[in-house]
Amino acid sequence: MESRQEIRSLLDFDRDHLWHPYTSITNPLPVLPVASASGVRITLMDGRELIDGMASWWSVIHGYGHPRLVAALQEQAAVLSHVMFGGLTHRPAVELGRRLVALAPEGLERVFLCDSGSVAVEVAMKMALQFQHALGRPEKCRFATIRSGYHGDTFHAMSVCDPVTGMHHLFSGVLPRYHFAPRPECGFHDPWDDDDVQPLRQLIATHHNELCALILEPIVQGAGGMRFYHPDYLKEARRLCDEYDLLLIADEIATGFGRSGALFACNHADISPDILCLGKALTGGCLSLAAVLATDRVGRTISSTAPGVFMHGPTFMGNPLACRVAVESIDLLLAANWQAAVSSIEQGLQEGLAPCRVLPQVADVRVLGAIGVVELRQPVDGAAIQRRFVARGVWVRPFGRLVYLMPPYCIDREDLITLCCAVVATVAEEARE
Ligand SMILES: *Cc1c(COP(=O)(O)O)cnc(C)c1O
Repeated sequence: MESRQEIRSLLDFDRDHLWHPYTSITNPLPVLPVASASGVRITLMDGRELIDGMASWWSVIHGYGHPRLVAALQEQAAVLSHVMFGGLTHRPAVELGRRLVALAPEGLERVFLCDSGSVAVEVAMKMALQFQHALGRPEKCRFATIRSGYHGDTFHAMSVCDPVTGMHHLFSGVLPRYHFAPRPECGFHDPWDDDDVQPLRQLIATHHNELCALILEPIVQGAGGMRFYHPDYLKEARRLCDEYDLLLIADEIATGFGRSGALFACNHADISPDILCLGKALTGGCLSLAAVLATDRVGRTISSTAPGVFMHGPTFMGNPLACRVAVESIDLLLAANWQAAVSSIEQGLQEGLAPCRVLPQVADVRVLGAIGVVELRQPVDGAAIQRRFVARGVWVRPFGRLVYLMPPYCIDREDLITLCCAVVATVAEEARE
């Protein structure tokens, strides 16, 4: 354990010099110093342990420090940590490509490896633009999307985030203005109401001549509102893209690799997008890596006319260390009975969060796969609620009106109950309407 003084000096430097996600440099929120993490437990430098309810933002699906992932990293680091991907290739990239092509929804055969989710979204959007350009339709250069979406923090990704909940309205003056359909209202488990997709139908029918693609998060809308919509909405979105000749970009950066109860959320609607973005859980949360999969048609079309190449190529593209650990993470997932793990978490979340349903502070409780969401009527005070969760021995990080859980798949029943009880107790203490 570190001495109090050492911890103090580390936190002082952090406060004075380091930016954390979405924080102020002059009025920073407190941060907790982590010493290590193992399984579903995060150990702080003062020795306290927290049960992790966040899987470090969807990514740590096998828990922290899984011995097979650690071994894969160590082996690969000793052989080849990095080499440029321009003009060179290596086994980890090929092995990862093989698995992605085999597992992804049908027809996605061309793989672009990049560094982070936001970059994957940029890459996908560039592919859609180059695709229409190559077909001699440069006027089809705008995007359609749905409200309550979140696609990342880089510029073009921001332009398709929800303008209100997407955290980027400050930049609206410099962002391209794209077409937003209202968010889907028909929930995953609701009876399907065809009227729900009518506004999207209208939008695409009106603007298809200028649209290159529809980009959306299939089934689960993540950071833009933590909402689960009906598979028939996605089916109809696919059909509309075919009818009006636009590409469908599915952003599965949060949902990929089982989180929603299907390996990919697109599987709930039995559809394939033209372009698929993966990230977050791709490496089991060990390293930053993302992938963009496209159909052969997209790949061939882009390559068919000048400039004849896809115009993107980041320095760390196909990093062997990240690819190797992604291969191991995927093999680990498929070897385990992940469906059973996710569905037992689903049941645990249903039962464990049910007491929230009767609380006057709570507007809605929803669960899908290994995702549990308690939507409050009022926004929470982030720093205050954080302290109360930590006092209860859990790591849960609410934002806005949302308190949510998405634990590693390896969490056991007892720890899941502890997490849910902490949410129920903490939400009950929130101010009433
Ligand atoms: C997290 C996320 C992104 C952005 O990924 P980063 O790795 O944070 O850049 C994009 N789309 C969705 C759906 C996400 O959940």
